[in-house]
Amino acid sequence: MANDVREIIIIGGGPAGYTAALYAARANLEPLVIEGFSWGGQLMITSDVENYPGYPDGILGPEMMQDFRRQAERFGAEYVTDDVTRVDFSERPFRVYVGDDEYRAESVVVATGATARQLGLESERRLQGRGVTYCAVCDAAFWRERDVAVVGGGDSAMEEALFLTKFASKVTVIHRRDEFRASPIMLDRARASEKIELVMNAVVDEVLGGDRMEGLRLRSTVTDETRELPVDAVFVAIGHDPSTGLFLDQLDHDDAGYLVTQAESTETNVPGVFAVGDVVDHTYRQAITAAGSGCMGALDAERFLASSHGHPGSALTAPRPEAAEV
Ligand code: NAP
Repeated sequence: MANDVREIIIIGGGPAGYTAALYAARANLEPLVIEGFSWGGQLMITSDVENYPGYPDGILGPEMMQDFRRQAERFGAEYVTDDVTRVDFSERPFRVYVGDDEYRAESVVVATGATARQLGLESERRLQGRGVTYCAVCDAAFWRERDVAVVGGGDSAMEEALFLTKFASKVTVIHRRDEFRASPIMLDRARASEKIELVMNAVVDEVLGGDRMEGLRLRSTVTDETRELPVDAVFVAIGHDPSTGLFLDQLDHDDAGYLVTQAESTETNVPGVFAVGDVVDHTYRQAITAAGSGCMGALDAERFLASSHGHPGSALTAPRPEAAEV
């Protein structure tokens, strides 16, 4: 295995990784995708996806990921269904390890995504996709004229709550302290909405419900008293963590751990290593934007490989010509 140097290894099996794999496979780069033991990414804990173009009737998140995976496989992408444990980007070929197995490649696309922080309750996990959700843009429309809750006190929580007011009849924001982390402007907007109620000094003790969510049990952090809040859905908005722990000592990143790429490119500070999808994206975090970014990463890798092998690559990916001298 160690003697076999690939053109490209893609790390991560979500919309970004599989799209990178599709483009790389169709460019005859025979990608190896180390997709993770729990492949599929955040869409695996989503139910219906209605905002991905091309699925007019919607599709279940896990089914969509299977389709993505199968589409890249059709063109020759190979998969290792396991977690990368270590990488060495100090020289080419780059080395990627899964336990004791070493994989080498001339280019690497990092597409390991991000995870929404969870409350850590068993009942939260059980009702994911059945009332418990982590993305208002994705799921708000399912809760028209219903009462819903948002957990969190930062800008994300305010943004989710404001977005939800377009659909829900009432939005209760639950925050664990008596001071919000959100910026004053976001907080002012939330306070100005008649549909939003801010509940402070409270945490979620339990998500209530059997097959579907029926409410929350809240506990006061001041008195320790509990009460039930009947809501049909809860949007947990307590932050995201990029899955970049493996790369932090080798790739440039910001304070929150998101990888940093060159302007208008997916290239990291290591030529030949590209980063795509939610590992670089604080802002949009959508399947469609991750997929677009994955496409860009594969095209950038193809261009890089073409220029380093001294052949022109495809018309799209030919090395950019030097600026003409005048
Ligand atoms: P954040 O600023 O880290 O806020 C997370 C919030 O969740 C905090 O209020 C925190 O409470 C709470 N929290 C964390 N863990 C919790 C737990 N286990 N149980 C209950 N509550 C918990 O994250 P964010 O809101 O996602 O924002 C991330 C960054 O993106 C920020 O820089 C933000 O300004 C930016 N952002 C900007 C916009 C915008 O400008 N439109 C929109 C979204 C995000 P504590 O306050 O007690 O720690």
